[in-house]
Order: sequence, then structure tokens, then C-alpha cells
Amino acid sequence: MKKHNFSAGPCILPQEVFQKSADAILDFNGIGLSLLEISHRSKDFVAVMDEARAIVKRLMKIGDDYEVLFLGGGASLQFCMVPFNLMKAEGGKAAYLDTGVWAAGAIKEGKKFGTVDIVGSSKEDNYSFIPKDYKVGAEYDYFHCTSNNTIYGTEMHKFPEVDTVMVCDMSSDIFSNARDYSKFDLMYAGAQKNMGPAGVTLVVVKKEILGKTGRDIPTILDYEKHIGKESMLNTPPVFPIYATLLTLQHLENNGGIEAAEQRNIQKAKLIYDEIDNNPLFEGFAKKEDRSFMNVSFKLLDESKKDEFDAAWKAAGISGLNGHRSLGGYRASMYNALPLESVQVLVDVMKSIK
Ligand SMILES: *Cc1c(COP(=O)(O)O)cnc(C)c1O
Repeated sequence: MKKHNFSAGPCILPQEVFQKSADAILDFNGIGLSLLEISHRSKDFVAVMDEARAIVKRLMKIGDDYEVLFLGGGASLQFCMVPFNLMKAEGGKAAYLDTGVWAAGAIKEGKKFGTVDIVGSSKEDNYSFIPKDYKVGAEYDYFHCTSNNTIYGTEMHKFPEVDTVMVCDMSSDIFSNARDYSKFDLMYAGAQKNMGPAGVTLVVVKKEILGKTGRDIPTILDYEKHIGKESMLNTPPVFPIYATLLTLQHLENNGGIEAAEQRNIQKAKLIYDEIDNNPLFEGFAKKEDRSFMNVSFKLLDESKKDEFDAAWKAAGISGLNGHRSLGGYRASMYNALPLESVQVLVDVMKSIK
């Protein structure tokens, strides 16, 4: 039986994507070869890459001033690629918002390249909210933020106006809501949270911000070099790119980001209403900063833990345990998770007395 998959990542994808990916592994486009055994320079794969790059722009409603790259190394590689490409070699300085473990990971790497100012942090409160009152001036080479904090379940529902280049790690909420993507100069996201299988990272970057640091950037870490080769500087991760394309086509064919956002709002309302109305449970994040993707909560009566755990497992739910650093529970509700799965979880929560 197919489980109700609340995993934080790698995560649920549309069933149709699993089926079509499996088909392509056996016989890609009916060419008598597997997707896994053809050259990335073959016309069949070049078409995949071209369409994957184009569909990202259509979904985000961004123009040709942006370039789309599919890179290896995970979102974590971007923690150093961003400063390498954007922080000035002489007197480089960047502003970071510290909203969780991933943001802190980006900060740690940024410091290796220049001065990092943390303009806001919720660390003292265990990252349970998004800091808001801060200013970022033109003295910074860029501002870096994390739109959704996967572990804590907080999300930026508003972004600041900054006087510099705006960089955002969107790994766990990309394509989940109709934010104005043209507000950002560089966006990146590991595929495995809401977009595809592990192994590829999406980078969307405005060309005009590149080439200004005076740094000698290793070729493989240089966005401009990747752009020059249309994201084929070296062998790209062909399978995750193909499965990502299928996921994005599925999204486009089902009403695009706007329709996905409406479904995500419905799912979030269903579970947060239960958390707020059921005295046995408590949400982790401050209400106004609650994530629509990752819902972190705890059971207030520890004596009910075994009963609750047994009940959700019996209901076919998988992946509900909280991150090891936070404990409790986390229901990750990425685009592909159906409303029915959330209803099953809410029914289980109601059944514990
Ligand atoms: C998971 C995650 C990362 C790390 O992604 P990798 O692809 O494993 O390197 C970075 N940022 C956020 C917000 C994440 O959720």
C-alpha cells in the first residue's frame, strides 16, 4: 500500500513522475536506449535540459535577464559558491539573516570569504520565528536569507526591501507559493525538497550581478562558466534533471504555482487548525511565521506518545518524526502531498483522547 509520505526530504513527488521516470530508465522516448546510457550531448537529452531551463522561467514568471542552471553538490555547495561569485575580493562584506541550521551553514561558509554581518537572528529562541526589523544598505555585496526553515517550520511570508543584491536559499519551499520571484537576484534550491530527486540543485541568477568580485574563481564553481556552457560545463546529473523536468511539467499542467499555492493553503489550514484546537498538541513556530511546507509540533502529554505513534503508523503515515535537533513531530507537506494525506493525519490526531 502506498504510504502517506510526510518526509522532509528526499520527499514525495507526483506518482506520474515516478512512473514516467521508470519508463525513461527502461526506454527513453522510444529510442531503444535508457536515459541512463545516452550522452548528455545527445539531442534527446539536450532537449530535456533546454526545456527544464525554460519551464523554470515560465513558472517563476521571470525574464531573459535570468539564467537557469542545474548543478551538482547540493544546496550546501551554494553556501560557498554564492560568496565566491558575489563577495568582493577586497573588503568584501555581506549581510545574512540567521533563521536556522541551514542559514547558519551558509553564514559559516560566507565568513571564509570576507566580513559577514548577521542582521537578524532568532537563534536565542531556538529559531522559532523570523526576525523582521533590520535594514540592509548598499555597503553590502549581497543579502542572504532562507525562505523556509525546513527543520523548525518557519517561513518568510514577506521579504525585506534591500539596497543590494538579494540571494535566497529556497530549497524547501520553491514553487510552493506565488511569491514575486523577480524580487531576487539569485535563488537556489536543492531539488529533493519540493522539486525532484536528490542529486541536482537549481540556481537561478541574474547575469548582471556576476563578474564583479575580482576573484579568481575555480572554473567549476564559477556561475559565468556554467552559463557559458548552458549548464553543461561538465556532465550534468541527467536523471535528477529529467525527473525534475517531469515534476515541473506536472506542476504547469495542474495550474502552475498559483494552483499549488491554493492547495498548500488548504493543507496548512487543515493541520494548523487541528494543532490549535486540540489541547494535546502544540505548534513550534510563532503563528505569523508558520511554514506551509514543514509543520513542526509536539505532543504535550508524553504518556500518549506510544498510542499516537502506533496510530499514525497504523494509518499508513510515514516520515512524521521531527528533526533530530528539535524532536517532536514534523509533517512536511510539499506540493505532491495530497490533501487526503493531511486529513488522515488530522483524523489520527483527533482520535487520541
Ligand atoms: C536541505 C536543505 C539544505 C541542504 O541541502 P543539500 O542539498 O542536502 O545540500 C539547504 N538549505 C535548506 C533550506 C534545506 O532545507
